[in-house]
Amino acid sequence: MQKKCVQCGKKAVISLAYGPHAFCKEHFLFFFEKRVRRTVRENRMVRGQEKIVVAYSGGKDSSTALFLVKKIFGKSNPVEALLIDEGIPKYRGSALAIAKKNCKKWKVPCKVVSFKKEFGFTMVDVMRKTGAKKKLGSTCSFCGVLRRRTMNKHARAMGAGKLVTGHNLDDETQSILMNVFDADIARFSRLGPIVGEGGKLGFVPRIKPLCLCPEKEIVAFAAFVGIKYYGRQCCPFKWQAKRNDFRKMVQDFEGKYPGTMFSIVRFFEQAKPVLAKQESARREMKKCAECGEPCSGTLCGVCRFVVKIKGKVN
Ligand code: SF4
Ligand SMILES: [Zn+2]
Ligand SMILES: [Zn+2]
Repeated sequence: MQKKCVQCGKKAVISLAYGPHAFCKEHFLFFFEKRVRRTVRENRMVRGQEKIVVAYSGGKDSSTALFLVKKIFGKSNPVEALLIDEGIPKYRGSALAIAKKNCKKWKVPCKVVSFKKEFGFTMVDVMRKTGAKKKLGSTCSFCGVLRRRTMNKHARAMGAGKLVTGHNLDDETQSILMNVFDADIARFSRLGPIVGEGGKLGFVPRIKPLCLCPEKEIVAFAAFVGIKYYGRQCCPFKWQAKRNDFRKMVQDFEGKYPGTMFSIVRFFEQAKPVLAKQESARREMKKCAECGEPCSGTLCGVCRFVVKIKGKVN
């Protein structure tokens, strides 16, 4: 039987099994945006008129995040975008071209920075090295550490009060489970809608306005609004990501038991305060002895990685 919108009774264009909810286009857009506004408000993600910098890749999540941040805060706060070029051919170039177009269309100033310029090597160089020696770590683990460093450094230079990332509900639940499977309480307790709150030691706090939005709904929202994003070929190195197995597992559970992802987040919200307290007592932030960026040991993750791969790539 044809489903009807739970709000107005018109023909539904989307049906969400976990509700269950069915919505017409107009009411789905309202429902989606309202959830993002509530996430931002309840977590006090944005304060005063601080500058908001969006880490923007040109994909569906960060395009939707930038669109909504500009819509919600564009009149009260400066909103800018930070684009990172990891040097991955046939992938990042096309995605960044779309990102630049959207920035122009939405009147968002943007800055582009590259791994090559920052570190002297690209992800292809890293792939050559780690592909040959798997024990050095996966391409994605290098990429993630280098990208977070680049984002933080440049967001700070841009005067950002907050750095927005496009993490969605699927990403969050995968990260929670990955840290449970790794028994990594320190990383587990650093997850959540705001990361690095307090802005101590040069950290620009990262906020995730889409962290309660399932990936499928972001795709639907972008399509209904007409947001153009890069959705073609995936990163060619993605197959290496352990995360892929977690993605599949979470999707299977969500398909069989709708609402599983929200339950995982609810579990996390209850567990985090207890574990975070224990962790913060153990963990003191310092400055990296090599580069001076914030870290918890003597050398930061970036300097440790750079030492590992430098020999061959330079
Ligand atoms: S899939 Fe891995 S290598 Fe590719 S951009 Fe993402 S983190 Fe980097
Ligand atoms: Zn409706
Ligand atoms: Zn360092």
